Amino acid sequence: AFGDFLAKRMKKSLEKKVNKSTLNEENIKDTLQEIRLALLEADVNNEVVKELISRIKDKALGGYIEEGANANQQLIKIVHDELQSILGQDKKGLDLNKKPSVIMMVGLQGSGKTTTANKLAYLLKKKEGKKPLLVGLDIYRPGAIDQLKELGEQTGIEVFEKGKQDPVKTAKQAIDYANENGYDTIILDTAGRLQIDEQLMDELNELRKTTSPSEILLVVDGMIGQEIIEVTNAFNKLLKLTGVVVTKLDGDARGGATLSIAYMTNLPIKFIGEGEKVNALAPFYPKRMADRILGMGDIETLFERAMESIDERSIEKTMKRMFMGQYDLEDLRNQLAQTARIGNLSGIMKMMPGLNGQISEKQIAEAQRKLVIFSILMDSMTIKERREPKLLKSLKRKDRIIKGSGRSEKELNELLNNFDKGRKQVLDMTKKFKKGGMNAFGK
Ligand code: GDP
Repeated sequence: AFGDFLAKRMKKSLEKKVNKSTLNEENIKDTLQEIRLALLEADVNNEVVKELISRIKDKALGGYIEEGANANQQLIKIVHDELQSILGQDKKGLDLNKKPSVIMMVGLQGSGKTTTANKLAYLLKKKEGKKPLLVGLDIYRPGAIDQLKELGEQTGIEVFEKGKQDPVKTAKQAIDYANENGYDTIILDTAGRLQIDEQLMDELNELRKTTSPSEILLVVDGMIGQEIIEVTNAFNKLLKLTGVVVTKLDGDARGGATLSIAYMTNLPIKFIGEGEKVNALAPFYPKRMADRILGMGDIETLFERAMESIDERSIEKTMKRMFMGQYDLEDLRNQLAQTARIGNLSGIMKMMPGLNGQISEKQIAEAQRKLVIFSILMDSMTIKERREPKLLKSLKRKDRIIKGSGRSEKELNELLNNFDKGRKQVLDMTKKFKKGGMNAFGK
């Protein structure tokens, strides 16, 4: 996955544990040196590396250790914060308020411009309900317009093109066409070259003047290394870019490119490309990228917090009861109480590497709400009812619990059904274990 290279190196360096209770010049020296090498090997620009190391050092030596953290954790947090501060504090979206809004995609040949134009159209259509029009203006690269048409067909997005006609003229016609046909977003796939040359820049500038784009996005190949800064600055000088899209950050890509661009060009990275498929384009979140570069989500904190709050013996007891088919609502209630002590679900899920971003805030909030409701319902049961859930078949008991908890019958039934389903699953599992000739505890 993206960033692995940098992640692994940084992780290794941070694992050289700094176990003292304070950070000082002596005990962070080696770790800083490792971080420096990791960043340089990840092709991060030298100036960025120097800045980053100096910031980390300042903070580490000047700072105090937060309560409950050890020096090693503190250093990890500092590195994370400084990575994020260079990558940018917040996600930067697109300005698409004009009707229609023009997005001009520019970049060198092979950077992934055409692919990204299509991915972006697809993203805007699917996630933001936009009606995008792709415009093929790369009249020089053989097959470029056909490629765009093919991609558009796959995603069901219309492509406007006029063959080899002058791109500026085609762009004007595309805007008229969009106005007449209700397209709200026009994405221009402009011509790329192997290198920056004057003729190309003149043409792009002409296009910019005629179409007044809301966004001018430079697509750069995340694998090309140091050149990336020069290329970005050259395009920016002439066109006043509104943002950068860094592609090919899948596979073995050295994620250092994002750090270099963010710091050396001061332009916001708005999206990253992570594969050839049409859905492999993601908004750029500085915090997530810092997590990924560091390669550990917040997994350490998560485990530490979990270990502090979970009473291991109680877990073992619950497990045993589960496998013996004795799991009841009292056990479930205890488990929910444990979960509550670890922290809210949203916090937990955010700290899980890989999960972040895949589960929406809404889904988390919904799950959280359910857990609260279930807890309230169980609080209104007697311990006897929790130990013998089948008592709850009685309508009289149900009625009392509903009144006592102030929740609905539907919610109570949902709890009981979920509980039943879970119990059956555990029983099935236990049977399988037993068939295999062992029990869960090897006894
Ligand atoms: P253009 O010349 O800039 O228009 O580049 P293309 O859009 O034709 O892309 C060049 C090649 O890079 C194509 O084979 C794309 O499939 C590939 N490509 C583009 N973006 C990505 C990406 O994010 N990851 C990977 N692995 N390949 C990409």
